[in-house]
Amino acid sequence: MNYRKHVQTNETPQVEPVLGMNQVENNAGGFVFALDNWKRLDRFLILGSEGGTYYVGEKELTQDNAKAVFDCIKSDGIKVVNRIVEISESGRAPKNDPALFALAMCTGLGNSETKKLALDVLPKVARIGTHLFHFIEYVEGFRGWGRGLRTAIANWYNKQEIDDLAYQVIKYQQRDGWSNRDLLRLSHPKTTDNIRNNLYKWIVGKDPLKELPKRIEAFEEAKITENKDTIVELIQAGLPREAIPTKWLNVVSVWDALLQNMPLTALIRNLGKMTSIELLKPMSNAVELVVKKLADKDYIKKSRLHPLAILIALKQYEAGHGDKGKLTWEPVAKIVDALDSAFYLTFQNVEPTGKRIMIALDVSGSMSAGFGGTNVSCCEGASAMALVTAKSESNYMITRFNDGIESIPISPRQRLDDVLKYTQEVNFGGTDCSLPMLYACHKNIEIDAFCVYTDNETWGGNVHPFQALQKYRQVTGINARLIVVGMASSGFTIANPNDSGMLDVVGFDSATPQIIADFIRN
Ligand code: CA
Repeated sequence: MNYRKHVQTNETPQVEPVLGMNQVENNAGGFVFALDNWKRLDRFLILGSEGGTYYVGEKELTQDNAKAVFDCIKSDGIKVVNRIVEISESGRAPKNDPALFALAMCTGLGNSETKKLALDVLPKVARIGTHLFHFIEYVEGFRGWGRGLRTAIANWYNKQEIDDLAYQVIKYQQRDGWSNRDLLRLSHPKTTDNIRNNLYKWIVGKDPLKELPKRIEAFEEAKITENKDTIVELIQAGLPREAIPTKWLNVVSVWDALLQNMPLTALIRNLGKMTSIELLKPMSNAVELVVKKLADKDYIKKSRLHPLAILIALKQYEAGHGDKGKLTWEPVAKIVDALDSAFYLTFQNVEPTGKRIMIALDVSGSMSAGFGGTNVSCCEGASAMALVTAKSESNYMITRFNDGIESIPISPRQRLDDVLKYTQEVNFGGTDCSLPMLYACHKNIEIDAFCVYTDNETWGGNVHPFQALQKYRQVTGINARLIVVGMASSGFTIANPNDSGMLDVVGFDSATPQIIADFIRN
């Protein structure tokens, strides 16, 4: 009998665990490695669990991630809080909700030092009114309204500059069934500043006639005026769109005034609307202004504009119509181009490595799952992310694989929407994440680093991906590295945690291309 036929450690079918490797079964029935809890925390903070994955529903995925966050809090709660602040403040994640949720867990489930620190850093993570309402909604699931929480909320209001606070309370009046009035009544912030005191009274509905911050007076005036020019002047004096009565929101001059100081995230979300009313049209000053704003790297960074937000806006804007309702528009080409270049500006600077890199995109069926309830699939996101590496490198090739593999002729010189077509209608078939390494081995292609973008639900191959990499190293003599870019917040990875030449990073993280480059260079 040939015993090797049944057991060996060099070539093992993915549906069987490799002897001695302490592997776990993924959702597709393949055996992979378990991601450690700290890396899982990062995946959750960046990817969240909204909408679940192809294999796992939202509820189960959230519970599963919360378990990992909980274990991290029990082992080192201070480290968790610091990580939450770091990722949230840097704007690396598409959404801030996972950070707010994890912080809420820390304030309820951590030891006393963790609870205290988590409440102290609240303004760093809940930077705007809507964040605060989300946090309150989450925190009630983990603790009661003790003194610590009341003080933290009172401080949130007390420590903001009065003008910023006035802006926050008119821009974010209520969310999740919570309003500023509810929070002030629960937290009772005390102040010796007269105008601030008047603002608090105004928020809870008392004494509306005393002296108030200018913005609040403008807000009250906007409610009653019948004059378009007055509305425009009030906007110029600092009123945000949320403070403008709906009846003015089809007037071109009103949107023109709003556009001048519109925050970037609001700007990219309202491109369709502003095009439909023909404020944005070819040759217009408004288009020039939008183009200029989208080319300002520092402004983009300061606004924490995330690459995924641009992808979502790009897809939506190009479609020429909104999701619901009857809003339609003719997309302006210059704006599509501006979004395309802004996409690359949202990432941290990437220094070229000069190494030979294969970017491999998982285009199997499971990668068609929409990401976090958006119009962008995991696969589209992966291809867009991959282009950032491609843009900074001179020696790269791009492949796509499911249960077969081929190289594809895409490059960052093409517009994103063209590139996405290579990964849009090909999501089918099984998954074999060992193919990039086997392909390079078979074709005798010299590669220093494989970057595999996948959800780690691999099962279809005759060898495990880490075994394929070992084989590639042996055959070519190149000590090639493997970077696994996880596109789903599951607890799985194809990277062998005991091999320092393999790295896990998180997809949809604006720091990922830089982290990849650092790892490849080292
Ligand atoms: Ca798959």
